Parts: sequence; C-alpha cells; structure tokens
Amino acid sequence: MIYFDNAATTPIDKSVLASFNDLVNKYFANPSSSHKLGLETTKIEEMARNQIARLMSCLPEEVIFTSGATESNNLAIKGVAFKYQNRGKHIITSTIEHPSVYNAFKCLENDFGFQVSYIPVDSNGVIELDVLKKSIREDTILVSIMSVNNEVGSINNIEEIASILKDYPKIMFHTDATQAIGKIDINYSKVDLISMSAHKLHGFKGSGLLIKRKRVDLMPLSSGGGQEFGYRSGTNNFPYEVSLAKTLRLALESQKDNYIHVKKLYDRTRTLLAQIDGITFNSPIDSSPYILNFCTKKKASVVQEALSLRGIFVSTKSACSSKKNAYSSVIASMGKSTFEASNSIRISFARENTIEEVEEFAKNLKEVLQLIK
Ligand code: PMP
Repeated sequence: MIYFDNAATTPIDKSVLASFNDLVNKYFANPSSSHKLGLETTKIEEMARNQIARLMSCLPEEVIFTSGATESNNLAIKGVAFKYQNRGKHIITSTIEHPSVYNAFKCLENDFGFQVSYIPVDSNGVIELDVLKKSIREDTILVSIMSVNNEVGSINNIEEIASILKDYPKIMFHTDATQAIGKIDINYSKVDLISMSAHKLHGFKGSGLLIKRKRVDLMPLSSGGGQEFGYRSGTNNFPYEVSLAKTLRLALESQKDNYIHVKKLYDRTRTLLAQIDGITFNSPIDSSPYILNFCTKKKASVVQEALSLRGIFVSTKSACSSKKNAYSSVIASMGKSTFEASNSIRISFARENTIEEVEEFAKNLKEVLQLIK
C-alpha cells in the first residue's frame, strides 16, 4: 500500500496511542469534578495546556481545546463576528479557504447581514495583498486568511498580512493553520486567532485547538458549564487534550527533519511527473512540500480509482468535498480551466513515505494513464 493522502488525515502515532490508552484507563474522572480524582485529572490537563502554551509561544489561558479545526474556525470567525458586530459588520476572507472557513463567512453573510470581501488569489494560489489592503474599511472587524492551502499547498505570507493589519487595531486576524503547524515554519506572534487540528499531525481525529490572544474576546457558540474559559462549554475530552500536547510536541520536535525528508519526496515527484506526457502542476513550485496537486489529461476520478485498485491512495480535491463534487473552486480561482478545476489530483506526504514509494507511484501513474482511454 502507498498512502499519499496525508493532507486528508495521517495515521496515528504509536506512542501517542500508547499514552492515550494509559490515560483513559488511569484518569477517567471529569476534570471539572472537585474531588481528588477530578483534581488529579485537572492537574494533568493543565500540564498539557502549559506545554502547548510553551510550544506555541502563547499563554496557557490563550489555549482553547476544541473538537478539531472545523470547530476552531467556526468559533474564531463567528465568535469574533458576533462579539464585535457593534463596531462594524464588514469581514474579509479569501476565495481559497477550507469550507469550514468559507461556509462560516457565507453563513454570516447570508443569515446575519455581514458584508464579506473575498480576496482573490494569483496564479500560484497566494492571496493578492494589494486587494486585501484596498478592501479594508472603517467597519472591518475580522480578516481570516489560511496559512497553507489544503488542496494545492500554496503558502500565504502570514507575517506580511499581520504587519499590514497592525495599523488597524480594531481588526482581528485569524488564520487556519491546519496544514501548516508542525510542517512549515511560520511566525504567528502577531496573529490573534490560530486554528489547528491533531489528525493532520499523527494525532486523533476530533481533536484540535484554537489559540486566542488575550486581547480578543469571543461570543461562545455553545452555552453551558463554562469550560475552556467560558469559550467552549462541554465536559473536557481530557485524554484527547493530553494526547494533543504530545502530538504537537512530537510534530514540532521533528518538524525540521520531516521537512527535509518530505521536500526530497516532493522534488523527486515533481521531476518524475514532469516526464509524464500531459501532466501539468497546479501546486506552485514553492508550495508546501507536503502537498502536490496536478492534472492529467484524463478524468481524475478514473485515475484515482485505477490507482486505488493498485493499492495507491491519492485524492481528487480535498477529502472534505471530494465525495460531493469534483469541481475545485480553489483551482478555478487560480485561473485554471473548468476541465483542470474538475480533474485535479492531490498527493500529500507524511514523514513515513519513502523515495521508493514515489518511484513506484510515478511508474504506476504512467501505466494507468496509458491504459485509460
Ligand atoms: N482547515 C483545513 C485547511 C483543513 O485541511 C481541514 C481538514 N481537511 C480542516 C480545516 C478541518 O479540520 P478538522 O477535520 O479537524 O475539522
């Protein structure tokens, strides 16, 4: 088997799973309980929160545990919009965001009377900073721009956007860093809200974080017992939270080595695919090496299925929307044709992939393309 769909999800790290099993068995008490068992659980949970704070260079009270990046994105975007709507109802995002951001903006626009500017991207899938600057208004309260795009791997200049926004203290800056944290070096020190997800980093599905700077307030999306500083009520998923701290630590400790390894896989794949007739790349040359998106002249779903029958797993579009519709608005926003936007293939790497797998993949892809009419 060759698994090249790591942007959709990654296999769980064995040591994360081992400590999870340990935790579930030993510490089952509710961290909100005030008896000894509950207090013990709280203590370990707080150690995990402190560790995440150190790893992310933030304060422990800026760490909000969530059920994943979808929830983090919704909490950040709707939470800011609802909290600060008296200051203004203009919000800004881009045309290439993950559905959990894009649809949150659509919801605010269609159901709550917010005005949204959707910033376009250039042919490399990177947002147009000049348009962003021109879109800022007196009543703008939020800008949300993803760090690394999940379909093509384009990298936005988050530090530059933060420095543009520093002249506008009324604007909160959120980034969906799901495909970036633990993979690519980005300085988030001037970003107000950062979303991430554990399962892209060999952690658990249904586990994520929202880092929220102290200066920012949010309207919580669910009312309840006031856990997570009142921003995310509901009994804490203690074993997931502690596992997330470990997942993040392992990812950050090995980020540099993994990057070097994955970049070699990426470069070799680009070289091999460039030699196959009819292949064009959608990922820019300087994309995140974890994601490579390309088109063949054949129908992507047929190519994907043929590879799958040979035990090679790749993606058409991103997993979140690929079952519904093959058309990629991300690739269309980059100025590509309708055929290209409907027939892209994404391969995405992780640390355990090898050069041999890349060679095997390229050989099989070439054969498959020759066999498909
Ligand atoms: N944002 C991006 C960029 C993603 O790639 C994903 C996962 N496909 C998400 C958000 C949603 O993450 P989760 O599965 O943790 O809800």
